[in-house]
Amino acid sequence: MRQNPNHRLSGQTCIVTGANSGIGKEVAMAMGRDCANVVVNYVTDPVGAEEVAHQIETNDNIAKAIALKADVSREDQVQEMFRVAKQHFGTVDILVNNAGLQRDAPFHEMTLEQWQLVLDVNLTGQFLCSREAVREFLSRGKVDYSCAMGKIICMSSVHQVIPWAGHVNYAASKGGVELLMKSMAQELGPKGIRINSVAPGAIQTPINRDAWETPEALNDLMKLIPYNRIGQPADIGAVTVWLATDESDYIHGATIFVDGGMTLYPGFTTNG
Ligand code: NAD
Repeated sequence: MRQNPNHRLSGQTCIVTGANSGIGKEVAMAMGRDCANVVVNYVTDPVGAEEVAHQIETNDNIAKAIALKADVSREDQVQEMFRVAKQHFGTVDILVNNAGLQRDAPFHEMTLEQWQLVLDVNLTGQFLCSREAVREFLSRGKVDYSCAMGKIICMSSVHQVIPWAGHVNYAASKGGVELLMKSMAQELGPKGIRINSVAPGAIQTPINRDAWETPEALNDLMKLIPYNRIGQPADIGAVTVWLATDESDYIHGATIFVDGGMTLYPGFTTNG
């Protein structure tokens, strides 16, 4: 089924986790521009989330949006978010597992709390939200407005493949996301559920402020990016929305790296 540009997700409902800030905010806005109804999930910033929902409804007179609070690492809160989303919009068609955080420390100083929090949010959060989405897709069944019965997009990172000293909890969580996504895709593809990941490189958001806020830091960062610019949330929004449309219907179980070439290992440009 071919859809009109910018109306590719009409009649579909999308949950974007961690959508009050950074990449999640831009993904939510881009979903709205393509006419999806959007659940703007947040955990700490109700004003920011309400503002995103308001902007989605103002930018487009078709898309509807609500802000819903839930800590993605808490089973009861995730289930409640899906219950309210279904009550409000009827069903859920697209899940973007975007919520994530970092708690960095040298390995020998990393506390169990730092390790556990990052794994709980970045990996268990994706499991809990995906499980609720899949339960909804299976109980609702096929729809006539999308080739797939439902779509899940996992926000991973270049650090699902690039080791990251001082951030072992984060790298382990994103490595986990890769095989969570692929194993879900293998199991659920036969049921018509399409699942992929987006792996951003360095995108200019609050999560990595240290890497871009001074000219020196930005200069160092450019040594890691062959395309020679920092990424913007819109770079990720465009690809994530496309992965939710029928235009990408035959892409399943894949990770799309959106990284300006960071995974080309530019340190080897001069033979290492
Ligand atoms: P960000 O800090 O702006 O956004 C993260 C969002 O997740 C925030 O809205 C935050 O409140 C939310 N969040 C944190 N814990 C949560 C919880 N328990 N429940 C619900 N929401 C929670 O950072 P960002 O750069 O926009 O990151 C978004 C995603 O992109 C993350 O998964 C991150 O790992 C990934 N990513 C970012 C970059 C980058 O360079 N910015 C690179 C690779 C991957």
